[in-house]
Amino acid sequence: MTAVIMDGVAVSKEVRGRLAARVAALVAKGVRPGLAVMLVGDNPASRVYVRNKVKACAEAGIHSVMDEYPADTSAADVLARIRALNADPSIHGILVQLPLPPHIDVDDVLAAIAPEKDVDGFHVESLGALMAGKPGFQPCTPHGVMEILDHYQVPLAGRNAVVVGRSNIVGKPMALMLLGRDATVTICTSKTRDLAAHTRAADIVVVAVGRPRLLTGDMVKPGAVVVDVGINRDADGKLVGDVDFDSVKEVSGFVTPVPGGVGPMTITMLLANAVTSAERAAAAG
Ligand code: NDP
Repeated sequence: MTAVIMDGVAVSKEVRGRLAARVAALVAKGVRPGLAVMLVGDNPASRVYVRNKVKACAEAGIHSVMDEYPADTSAADVLARIRALNADPSIHGILVQLPLPPHIDVDDVLAAIAPEKDVDGFHVESLGALMAGKPGFQPCTPHGVMEILDHYQVPLAGRNAVVVGRSNIVGKPMALMLLGRDATVTICTSKTRDLAAHTRAADIVVVAVGRPRLLTGDMVKPGAVVVDVGINRDADGKLVGDVDFDSVKEVSGFVTPVPGGVGPMTITMLLANAVTSAERAAAAG
């Protein structure tokens, strides 16, 4: 059997098409969605991510402001800028690119962002809302995974889902989102004994670990749905996921590729959260 390849580029295009209509409706009411992106330091990968986000905003008709700060900027200056953005009515979303330089406490920075502008969904209030099933902003990567699963009409209720990885930005919110859709969810970590026994019992496997080709075909139930969140370079410098795509695609029913799977959805869901935030602000008058 060869799996259906779940195309994140195509799903992303479709979601962005729907967003364009929502942006147009806001603009007709005199509201242009606005996103502020803050980059502290000179991490080259972060710089690329931030530029891609700003470019995606421009393509979607979202106003964006990009603030670049040197690595030795004080935490107080970063917090002061966040407070100014919290109070700026033209800004509906605030994103601080991670990682931050070590002298800046990431928890303090995330806590300073007004929850109603927390479009990354990393504020504890956003994570709490997700856990309690209340409206808030969902972290973009797992939210993008849900969009892919829905696009391919993957049934979730009553299915066994295994999430490999428990980070606050991917694994844990992913598990909560699947649970919220009535999947029976298992979370595996580096401490899990016999990972393969868990993944082989799963109808849906989401891998978010950061280890090249960790999940191989022999660890997957025939016909299962496999989602690869990982972004890694292998020993040859090739961009690969956490899933051994070649062996898994021969066993699974559906699989996401890397690149071209979950990656494109992350920025798209950031845009979606920014538009949602602008809609909420417009509705609140
Ligand atoms: P973290 O390093 O924060 O978390 C990794 C998780 O994997 C931890 O919970 C860890 O367990 C677990 N783990 C490590 N080794 C194993 C193992 N052998 N078996 C089972 N679990 C294991 O990573 P992130 O969640 O931030 O990112 C995961 C991957 O996803 C990375 O490759 C990252 O680049 C990618 N990513 C991709 C995004 C996208 O847009 N596509 C966005 C965000 C991340 P423990 O907690 O016990 O240490």
